[in-house]
Amino acid sequence: MAQFNSSSLKKIGVFTSGGDAPGMNAAIRSVVRAAISSKLEIEAVLQGYKGMLKGEFAPLNLRSVANTIQRGGTFIKTGRSPEFHQPEQRQKAADHLRARGIQALVCIGGDGSFTGAHLLWKEQGIPYVGVPGTIDNDIYGTDVTIGFDTAVNTALEAIDRIRDTAASHDRLFIVEVMGRNSGFIALDVGLAGGAEAVFIPESPLPVEAVIDKIQAGVKGGKTSSILIAAEGQKPGRAYDLAESIRKKSGFEAKVCILGHIQRGGAPTAADRILGSRLGAHAVDLLHQGVCDVMAGVRNGQLINLDMSQCLAQRKVIPQGYLDLVDRLR
Ligand code: ADP
Repeated sequence: MAQFNSSSLKKIGVFTSGGDAPGMNAAIRSVVRAAISSKLEIEAVLQGYKGMLKGEFAPLNLRSVANTIQRGGTFIKTGRSPEFHQPEQRQKAADHLRARGIQALVCIGGDGSFTGAHLLWKEQGIPYVGVPGTIDNDIYGTDVTIGFDTAVNTALEAIDRIRDTAASHDRLFIVEVMGRNSGFIALDVGLAGGAEAVFIPESPLPVEAVIDKIQAGVKGGKTSSILIAAEGQKPGRAYDLAESIRKKSGFEAKVCILGHIQRGGAPTAADRILGSRLGAHAVDLLHQGVCDVMAGVRNGQLINLDMSQCLAQRKVIPQGYLDLVDRLR
């Protein structure tokens, strides 16, 4: 864990970066109010690294975060900035921060955003703490990320509706949920939604195996089924799956792609609480001179993990979930 001299810490910055996630506002609110309660000034860096490169900042006070905890998205905006991959651009960003008097940062985002902040620390000595905010839950070292619970519940609500129509028409549905490199959303949604099978990038399931399951279900008197597919590297892959199932078995599957509706909406209580806990924790770590770490939660307890470790490892899916989906179908 890296340390810096925090005795002269007066002003910190907070930014959200990469994909937005419900609960980010709760985390920003917590950072702002915890900072002020610790006698620190606090400013937003607008639009993530984009704003850092353009020098776009906004001072925040207790009232700036009033009425934000229940809102989805991020009111200080997020962004993606390919320029930030270049060291000379990071130097420019650091110059803007120093000119503004921002001495340390709280970075709310996913592993891409953490990588940017880690490089800014290594090259420019700007201390930071990372707060995991992504609906995908694919960050190593924390049990859960901000936004995941809301995304799962949003997808689940849609699936419950689809189930009504699937049951009424004796239909097979494939529902595609988000998750480019990871199947966390698909797994939770599959288990909570009573799915027949779940397709995830980490543990690909052959189409033939799914057809066998559907056929066994039909023999057992099942009239409708729901399959969940994580989008993987190819959003829209559920159509390919449906086509492949049709060609190999004759079963006609309806496809529903949930897409961006999974990102928005009011955060659940769990995400508001997680955002509130992690935001204040990040400020406390900076106050203590701890940096280059991720603030996370493990077994319900607040932890901090060295960022190099966090970035070097891949979070593994709960294997038991896949087996349980299969056992309970
Ligand atoms: P997330 O943080 O949700 O994983 P991204 O991967 O899109 O989202 O990353 C967000 C931003 O972080 C990028 O647009 C870029 O500005 C910065 N970033 C990502 N990867 C790197 C990297 N390897 N080096 C420097 N900056 C990076």
